[in-house]
Amino acid sequence: MHEMSLATGVAELVEAELAKAAGRRLLRLAVRVGTLAGVEIEALRGCLEIIAETANWGTAELLIEPEPAAAACLDCGAEFAPRPADFRCTACGSGHTELRRGQQVYVDWLEVDDGD
Ligand SMILES: [Zn+2]
Repeated sequence: MHEMSLATGVAELVEAELAKAAGRRLLRLAVRVGTLAGVEIEALRGCLEIIAETANWGTAELLIEPEPAAAACLDCGAEFAPRPADFRCTACGSGHTELRRGQQVYVDWLEVDDGD
């Protein structure tokens, strides 16, 4: 499942961060989910909770928030929120646009207790 593989990727990043020093504990984890990433936030949360339980950071607070899509027009320079399946510039109608945000799922930040 898509969400489970994403959750596994997030968990690997968390584990790498916790492994940097002994006794580190995850307190809070903020994950951003682009609205065009095709990911169900609640499904991703469920997967992360399962992994967190077995990985021993089940008490960490999981902040999973949507990141709105944003695109830029390469012709007129306007920034706009693309409509689903229609990335034409809302200012000039050009199809020469570039998606800047909204397709990614990533760890925005995490808060770790160093144990002392
Ligand atoms: Zn434009």
